[in-house]
Amino acid sequence: MQVVVTDSAGFCFGVKRAIKMAFAAARRYPHPIYSMGPLIHNPQVVGRLEEVGVRVVEGLDRVEEGTVIFRSHGVTLEETNLARERGLKIVDATCPFVKKAQKYASSLSRGGYLVVIVGDKGHPEVQGILSYIKGEGLVTESAQGLRTLSGVTKLGVIAQTTQSYENLQEVVSRALLVAREVRSFNTICDATHIRQQESMRLAQEVDCMIVIGGYNSANTTRLADLCRQVQPNIHHVETEGELDPSWFRGVQRVGITTGASTPNWLIDRIREEVAKVSH
Ligand code: SF4
Repeated sequence: MQVVVTDSAGFCFGVKRAIKMAFAAARRYPHPIYSMGPLIHNPQVVGRLEEVGVRVVEGLDRVEEGTVIFRSHGVTLEETNLARERGLKIVDATCPFVKKAQKYASSLSRGGYLVVIVGDKGHPEVQGILSYIKGEGLVTESAQGLRTLSGVTKLGVIAQTTQSYENLQEVVSRALLVAREVRSFNTICDATHIRQQESMRLAQEVDCMIVIGGYNSANTTRLADLCRQVQPNIHHVETEGELDPSWFRGVQRVGITTGASTPNWLIDRIREEVAKVSH
C-alpha cells in the first residue's frame, strides 16, 4: 500500500514563527511565563511548551507579573491593553496574516462600514478581529447570515484567515444585493488556501484520506470537511493511537494531510503506524 503525504503538511509559517518565539521567550524572559490561550491548536505541542514553563491561561485576571505570549491567532484589543496596564512583558506571536485582518477590521469600521467577518463566532481569532471594530460587527459562517440585513449603505467584508475563497465570494456576492457600497479585503492566508487545494486534489486520487490535527483546530476541521466533499473514506485524527485497521481494508493508496499546527514528528509517527496497521 502506498502512503502519500501532501507537500504542504506540517507547520505553516505563522505557527513555526509562534513556536520559535515561545521557546525563545521561555529561555530569555522573566518567569512566570504564560500563553494567552493555547499558543497553537495542537495539544501535543502545547504539552512540550508546558515542559519548558509556558503555562496556558484563558484570561489575564490573575496574572500580575512575568511574561505573556499572544497566541498565533491573536488576542482581543482589551486583552492587549490589560497586559500593558499590568506592566507584563509582551511577546506578540500573532501571525502577520491575522494582524492584517485586525487592521482591516479597524480601518473599515472607522470608515463607516458595517463590518462583516466571515468565520466562526466562537473562535478566538474572530473574537480578536471583532474587538478592533468600533461599534457593532457581524460574524457569519455563510451568505445566509446576511439575510436579515436591510437599510445598510456601506458593508465591509473580511474573513477569518482559515476560510475558503468560495465562502468569502458567496458572502461578497450576497453583500452586493444588500448594500449600495461594498468593500472587501481578502484576508484568507495563502498557506491555508494552498493546503486546502492540495489536500482536496490528493483526497480525490486516493482510497482513504487521513487528516491530522487538533480537534480544536479550526483549520484542520475545515480541511477535513473539504476533503470529505470528494472522499467519503476520510478520518480526522490527533494521534496514531486512533487509527483503525478497518479503514484500510482493500485500500491501495492512503493520503495524509495536516492542519497548520501539526508537527513533523507526529506526521512521521502516523505515517509509520498507517504502514503497520494496514498490513
Ligand atoms: S494558517 Fe495562515 S494565518 Fe494561521 S497561523 Fe498559519 S500562516 Fe498564519
